[in-house]
Amino acid sequence: MTIYESTMSLILKQFLACSSIARRLVLAGVIAILCGLVTTPVQAAGLEVKDIRIGVHDGTTRFVVDLSDKVEPRIFGLPDPFRVVIDLPEVNFVLSEERIGDGAGLIEKLRYGLFRPGTSRFVLDLKTPSKISKQFLLRPDGGKPWRLVLDMVPASREEFLTSMRPRGETVPQVATKPPPLLNRPQNAKPVVVIDAGHGGVDPGAIGISGAYEKTIALAYSRDVAKRLRATGRYKVVMTRDRDIFLPLRERVRIARAAGADLFLSVHANTHPKRSTNGFSVYTLSTRASDKEAAALAALENKSDVIGGVDLGDYSDDVQNILIDFAQAKTNELSVKFARDMLVGEIGQRARLLGRPWRSAGFAVLKAPDVPSVLLELGYISNPKEEKLLLSKSHREKMSAAIVRAVGNYFKENQNANL
Ligand SMILES: [Zn+2]
Repeated sequence: MTIYESTMSLILKQFLACSSIARRLVLAGVIAILCGLVTTPVQAAGLEVKDIRIGVHDGTTRFVVDLSDKVEPRIFGLPDPFRVVIDLPEVNFVLSEERIGDGAGLIEKLRYGLFRPGTSRFVLDLKTPSKISKQFLLRPDGGKPWRLVLDMVPASREEFLTSMRPRGETVPQVATKPPPLLNRPQNAKPVVVIDAGHGGVDPGAIGISGAYEKTIALAYSRDVAKRLRATGRYKVVMTRDRDIFLPLRERVRIARAAGADLFLSVHANTHPKRSTNGFSVYTLSTRASDKEAAALAALENKSDVIGGVDLGDYSDDVQNILIDFAQAKTNELSVKFARDMLVGEIGQRARLLGRPWRSAGFAVLKAPDVPSVLLELGYISNPKEEKLLLSKSHREKMSAAIVRAVGNYFKENQNANL
């Protein structure tokens, strides 16, 4: 160890000792494990993030990541809203407690997770534009592991834009034009695409006891996919089958590339009023059916911002929802499935939200030729419903009802896939 490194280590120790560290204890892990939703992750040999700390001292916010090995991070900023993105090679997060949530100092909120295969990501939402005043890597010392250290100080918008600008491509490679639908033989099985909302660096909504929407969405999606496959009547494609981020446009692209006949995006909702509960389903429309549906679409469409995707790299067609003639026909089928099939089946077994079918400009429902619906399984801001959504029996009941609705849809729309 060099003198520089030991000095830096000492400075770091002192810095952290006098810092106020904001911590938010999230109980998601405990609840999810108790309810059998997740098992303890298999820790593959490889890079590990062991701890994350935020310290605030004299206007400087220090962000420290404890690592099992040396890394070469890629760090850049994205404006509107101001974010700092830290990309690392794919890592296992083996923290003693979840740190997704509130930050401290200049960091408003903190998220992390798998961004794409081979890349894990931190996204720091900033309270004000900031710049990195120092950035270094400390070697293991005195029982401490490798540490990535970032110091941030307030800056002007212009300073942020010039000093934090990303170099090179910042979004996952996705086809700019969706591929044409597959030419399938006439008697081919209908293709159903199940899209587990959020994932990886985007946890989605966070429940009253800390359950993550992304975890619930994946558990239900897996169950629905398994049941659909078991009927032998469908080809089933999942947009994601692990805890990984997917841009909204990529989800639509996967559905189109698979030649989907039906697309189900699975989510869970939150509401400021704790008592709000019940299942609801959404279809695409240029004019939202009501204010709440519009607000929900705005929130769900934020996934790319949350994941640290630079929207400037996209053409703005994900943001601007225009329904053309082809989409109008597709939309009729979406509405039929949502209103006539899904609400009926779920309503027999679970609580429904008042007016359970609604519509708004959801970017993920935008495939012009694929009937698409977005399911909000229930409200994880409601303590009872959060618990229910985490229970195996409720998941099985809901999944079975969704599968019956899919069956009814294809029975009534023999030609729906033409
Ligand atoms: Zn969602």
